[in-house]
Amino acid sequence: MTTTKTKPITPAMRTVEELSIEDLSNSNYRLGFSSQKDERAEQFAWVAEGLAGLYAHYNRVYFGGRLPTFRIVAAEPKTFFITGTYEEESSTIYVYLTDRIWIELLRETLIHEMVHVSIASGEHDERFRAELHRVAEMGHEDAAYDDWTKSEGWNGTFRSAEEKDRWEARLERSSEWGSPDFIDDNGDFVVKEEDDPYLRRVEVRGHVAAQPVPSGARP
Ligand SMILES: [Zn+2]
Repeated sequence: MTTTKTKPITPAMRTVEELSIEDLSNSNYRLGFSSQKDERAEQFAWVAEGLAGLYAHYNRVYFGGRLPTFRIVAAEPKTFFITGTYEEESSTIYVYLTDRIWIELLRETLIHEMVHVSIASGEHDERFRAELHRVAEMGHEDAAYDDWTKSEGWNGTFRSAEEKDRWEARLERSSEWGSPDFIDDNGDFVVKEEDDPYLRRVEVRGHVAAQPVPSGARP
């Protein structure tokens, strides 16, 4: 059984040219996107392509390959706190990217939306929770974290104290998005790129995106 336990986070200011499935599955750092429109569109398409590969991988490992193929679209966020949505009619998952985004959040968003696909419902009802829990129990770290954050009394799926420590650290990372030390009321970053130790700027050079920039995106 494949698990998605992540490697420890190592601060590194560097660029990434290839976002492999391996990288997406196991690593965590902040991806940084260009503010320049064309570059950004290309970078978004590249992330979407990586996530489409991860969708296929998760489908095989956690859903027995029974999920229908969904198109993954990486788009500008509509509302700051919504990280993804899924659209049954068009078989599309939208993942919303901010200027800098943790890879673990991309994974969590993807598996969350895949659980919606699996139950063919956008509700967060008992069926949703049961399916999320099932995937978590199979060893999917991000599903387990998602399950934990949604659980009453913060119990959720956890199997060890060490795991809970990881999730608490993760919760702290995610809460910095709401912190005025990191991001202001307009959603602009207060911390400069060069002072952000976890940032890796995405460089896409000569990469031919397999997926055209969708009309739904607003790059
Ligand atoms: Zn949802």
